[in-house]
Amino acid sequence: MVDLRGAPCVERSVRIKVSEALRFLAGLGATALVLLLLAIRVTSCAPMSVSAPPMAASPPPPAARAPATPAECRNSAFDAQAQANTASLAGLAWAPFGRDEIGWEIYAPMIGREVATGCPPTSPAFAAALARWQASQGLAATGLMNEVDFQRMRGVIQLRRPFVVLAAQEVCPEPTLGVLEPNHDGEGYGGKQVFMRPAAFAAYRRMAAEARRDPEIAADPRNLTIFSGYRSPALDAQRCQLEGNCDGVVRASCSAHRTGLAVDIYVGQAPGFGPDSSADPNRLYMSRTPTYRWLVANADRFGFVNYPFEPWHWEWTGEAP
Ligand SMILES: [Zn+2]
Repeated sequence: MVDLRGAPCVERSVRIKVSEALRFLAGLGATALVLLLLAIRVTSCAPMSVSAPPMAASPPPPAARAPATPAECRNSAFDAQAQANTASLAGLAWAPFGRDEIGWEIYAPMIGREVATGCPPTSPAFAAALARWQASQGLAATGLMNEVDFQRMRGVIQLRRPFVVLAAQEVCPEPTLGVLEPNHDGEGYGGKQVFMRPAAFAAYRRMAAEARRDPEIAADPRNLTIFSGYRSPALDAQRCQLEGNCDGVVRASCSAHRTGLAVDIYVGQAPGFGPDSSADPNRLYMSRTPTYRWLVANADRFGFVNYPFEPWHWEWTGEAP
């Protein structure tokens, strides 16, 4: 269940009902969920303001699993599926976010979290966990990774972002301005100054402090520094126009960075790429870093959710966009 603090009026009960409905309708898919939630919104009490998302997000992910031992990752009933997944992990030709990609290793940490396994994507136990997730979604429990089922998972994950829940209703939140505060020393990537809402910064600081208890993460001081927080729509539009840096049409029209809740976090960079390059070799590199893997396993405990195409982009869910 999402954080209900601050939810006005009957939204609390509506959200609880939505949560029950979500469980009941888990097999219907993200599109159906959005339609359902829209219908519920229409029948709930007062007119909803942009600052108060009227609908619940997806349920939270299952508890993170610690990395499992090779013995724990065996499952002789899923050996063939593990073989097929091993092949597709590096070779699947697909377009999970509308752009052609080869293989699904970039998304393997996220998928592992979602299907509640600590086993690697090549293992029989991973295939078994995927089959259990597929069954829970009303999909054929093949244990095989494929594009259609990934799109279901992507929809579930995306609806944990209140910004996306609003976007599904074609609502773009007003830019946050008055309540922003600058970062503390050492928090900006390369000394950069960034702005966010105070509560989002506080949650970020708790998260970064805990992550840095991992010596592997602490070894590189750039890890978890922030290279983008609040961005004004005017500045984004200018970047889009002048530099052609439009982040699809998202940045040009309505970026989550206008909320003061979105944060781009340094999780590593492949040689020759920047920390925000969406080139596939860079994203693959990022998906293997200890910082990104720590975030996948732990960021939700601090209220942060990821946009799964960008390993660096996280949004704090403790306040409405
Ligand atoms: Zn971002």
